[in-house]
Amino acid sequence: SATAPEKMDVNGHMASRGQNGHANFEHGVQVIDEDKEFNPDLGKYLSYEDIARSGFNYHLVSVFGSQSTGKSTLLNALFGTSFNVMSESERRQTTKGIWMSKNKSSTKGMADNILVMDVEGTDGRERGEDQDFERKSSLFALATSEVLMVNIWEHQVGLYQGANMGLLKTVFEVNLQLFLRDRKTTSRSLIYFVVRDFLGTTPLQNLRNTLMQDMAKIWTGLNKPQGLENSSIDDYFDFAFTALPHKIYAPEKFEQAVKDMATRFKEAQRDPRRDPLRSEFESGVFMSEYHRRIPADGLPHYAEGIWDQIVNNKDLDLPTQQELLAQFRCDEIMREVMVAFDQTITPFETKQTSAASLGQHEVIEGLGAAMTTARSRTVQDFETEAGRYHKGVYQRKRTELESKIDTRLKALFAGQLTAAHKNGISKFSEAVSNEVKAGQKKGAAYDFAEIVSRQKQAALKEYETQAKAVVMEGVEWSSYKQESALFQKEIDQVSGQLRRDEMRRLATRVERWVKSKLNDSVGLEFNAIGSGRGGSGASDGESGDKPSEQQIWDRIWTVFTTTVTEAEKRFSDRARAFDASEDEIEVGKWRLRRKSWTALRAKIDEEMMEGNLLLKLRENFEDKFRYDEAGVPRIWRPTDDMDGLFRSARESTLTLIPLLSKFRLSQAGGKPPPLDDWIGNAPPSATGADEEDLVPIGGIDEEEGKSLEEETTMLSETKRQDLTVRFKKAAEGVFVEAKRSTVSGMQS
Ligand code: GDP
Ligand code: MG
Repeated sequence: SATAPEKMDVNGHMASRGQNGHANFEHGVQVIDEDKEFNPDLGKYLSYEDIARSGFNYHLVSVFGSQSTGKSTLLNALFGTSFNVMSESERRQTTKGIWMSKNKSSTKGMADNILVMDVEGTDGRERGEDQDFERKSSLFALATSEVLMVNIWEHQVGLYQGANMGLLKTVFEVNLQLFLRDRKTTSRSLIYFVVRDFLGTTPLQNLRNTLMQDMAKIWTGLNKPQGLENSSIDDYFDFAFTALPHKIYAPEKFEQAVKDMATRFKEAQRDPRRDPLRSEFESGVFMSEYHRRIPADGLPHYAEGIWDQIVNNKDLDLPTQQELLAQFRCDEIMREVMVAFDQTITPFETKQTSAASLGQHEVIEGLGAAMTTARSRTVQDFETEAGRYHKGVYQRKRTELESKIDTRLKALFAGQLTAAHKNGISKFSEAVSNEVKAGQKKGAAYDFAEIVSRQKQAALKEYETQAKAVVMEGVEWSSYKQESALFQKEIDQVSGQLRRDEMRRLATRVERWVKSKLNDSVGLEFNAIGSGRGGSGASDGESGDKPSEQQIWDRIWTVFTTTVTEAEKRFSDRARAFDASEDEIEVGKWRLRRKSWTALRAKIDEEMMEGNLLLKLRENFEDKFRYDEAGVPRIWRPTDDMDGLFRSARESTLTLIPLLSKFRLSQAGGKPPPLDDWIGNAPPSATGADEEDLVPIGGIDEEEGKSLEEETTMLSETKRQDLTVRFKKAAEGVFVEAKRSTVSGMQS
């Protein structure tokens, strides 16, 4: 960070900054400076030394002791570090502060990633200073370190009031303060006495006993907080001892002893069967219970938090610190894993939303696989990095992460299913329509039900394939059961609509057939009128009886109902073949009856158009007047009763006008046909849409205000009178013509 103050490095040089803006870490890092400022570059240092990603596989060792007892010299010899050593000549006071360096020693068997802290200026009382820094740095070292090395001259061992004893008292006190709030913590520390300038005349074992008695004395004299009055020093500390010869007077021996000592900085297990007289730490000093369980990548933040609490004289509460650290780190790790997640997932999201914004639905290739991988990788990466932190916090953050990514994956999942659904539906209805069209073009009868069921199977299969491809294994929400059911339901709805369309087409075909049948038969009936011989052509002339003109409506009604009944049968047979429901068929048949009636009326209206009907009546009259009973044209003789024949023919034809004006059944005593009963009420399942295109029918559609009487009236009173007048004129014309021809015939 650019704002960090320049630091003196371990050799007293100003730390130079490299080209990348990072401090020069070759000689370690000053964790806490003389102004009690925490160095924000600690994290960079751990990265620089390749420790940041080592999880719990690192160790922290601190050294305490009076000024100028050769602490830095010892660390440099043990760990190959370059901590500042007071030069013989200058004897200047080194600055206060805490320095850290990674173990550089190449001694075989040492543990990985040992971080050494040189705590300077701890023994304030020796210099008559206040003990503030001493307390603070002790607390900091205790909260972080596994091993606390205490440096002591041999000749001071047993001098209870002497150097270091005050310092140790401070260490014990802050330790009690620290663990008073954290009784569940099982973490202990090793106090490692290094006896310097060891002459060898007193066995180390004796020195050790003396030191242990002193420790016990200090512990007893401590002002213990409430609840910890009966605690023992062994509840918190283990002790180890090493003696080193004089560095100046016995340099070779010193060197060898340091070499031996270095090998003890390795991982160890407590041996319950140990020889109480032999130090079990000869095999190694790093017992797992000393480790503070702060993952390396979280150490800088943790250390900073601890230091902040210490400097501000706040109660140091390690569990809280660890939770805060876990929150901080879990959030950081979450952000990191989300970057990779975004890289995979964002392109799909963009693709989906941009398609949707265009109203399109794209089934994205490879989405399922990408989602599965992204999800498991993200969660796994998070677990690897964050799983080392406070379990409760980690679990909570993991749930948070999962819900965060699941929210996005769910949206993609749902979008994909929607696309599969929408595409599937439109593809299905298009495919059915196309096949029907092709069938119609060929003119052959096509099997609508078969087309629908085959296309439905295809659509369901494709949906299934597309949906299955986006399911994430082991992710319980990624199920498409409901969606699949919805898809099937809509396919069925669309099938229903297509079937109704198909029924309409079928109905139209049947209606056309009815119309043409009616056109033929009704046409024949009216032509028969023209022939004047009672419409023989309109009926099976087999019997030889001349069908009476008077029964024209009976015949028309019969042919009409027969035709429609046949049409209804054709319609329902076909409709049943493609799975139409009985209700739908009922509606179709009802519609067909109504439409057929309308068609019949239209045909009758056409026949009844003034010109047409007048022509027919005139022909009818001429037939009766100019032909004899046997159908032979009359040759008028003067003796013939021309007037009588004219009158009777005219009267006979005139009876047709009232007859034709009203559709009446002679069998039913001259009543209108039972159109209302015959058509019947609209079936209950008929919808508004079914009735939309229907022409109102009098006597059936009450609200139209037209009665059955009116519906079956084919010629209005006015038209009737008009027709009568015109027919009479026409008949007279024929008569005059006939008369004239007779006269001329006689003349010739
Ligand atoms: P620190 O202040 O405890 O870190 O002590 P230093 O490592 O800076 O050393 C202080 C002085 O003690 C230096 O002048 C060293 O040369 C000297 N010194 C270092 N090691 C020994 C030793 O083993 N015995 C004695 N008598 N002096 C030592
Ligand atoms: Mg020093």
